[in-house]
Amino acid sequence: METRLRHLFALQKVDLGLNELEEMKGDLPFTVKKLQESLDSKLHTKAELEHMVQQTIIARDATDVEILALKERIEKYKGQQFQVKTNKQYDALTREIELSQVRIIKLQAEMEAMEGKMTVARNDAEQLTPEITELETELGEKIVARIAKADYQMYERIRKAKDGRAVVPVKRNSCGGCFNRVPPQKILELRKNDTLMTCERCGRILVSDDIVENSAAAE
Ligand SMILES: [Zn+2]
Repeated sequence: METRLRHLFALQKVDLGLNELEEMKGDLPFTVKKLQESLDSKLHTKAELEHMVQQTIIARDATDVEILALKERIEKYKGQQFQVKTNKQYDALTREIELSQVRIIKLQAEMEAMEGKMTVARNDAEQLTPEITELETELGEKIVARIAKADYQMYERIRKAKDGRAVVPVKRNSCGGCFNRVPPQKILELRKNDTLMTCERCGRILVSDDIVENSAAAE
């Protein structure tokens, strides 16, 4: 708010050049909307990638458990092979062991593929982070510019209605525009520089001494 007040006062003091006026009249709401859409889309993609990583971790852990179970089963079959009485029974167990081994190889390949998929998804999500930060910064700047535009429109409205003076300092507890007395409570509020106050009589924007004294430094 203090910056906005300073800017308004500076605007009154120096009167802006034509180029800067054109900039303020630019199609800001459209730019802001486009930026917001781009940001939302990237945030959505990032969330999807992170969700995919989480799901893949669950699937990988389940596969890992299955492999361990198969290895245990193979050990069990091998133990049983010492106890069987016929070749037929022995061969049946050998077949079971071989089937389990084939299944383990297949699951291990699946696990490797999952690890690869996770690495790619993690990298993609990480690459989005600086892009998201950049968009958030740009959006923030545009919104500040939009506030400036709203302030400017108000300033212009008052300026046109009040003989070219829209922003005035409070002097000797009076409005610098119409010299109407400003209540002490309002002066106290004004010194906080955190609200936009107007004169009760003429409607001009009032600024504190602090804003007046430091406006040169701010510019
Ligand atoms: Zn006034």
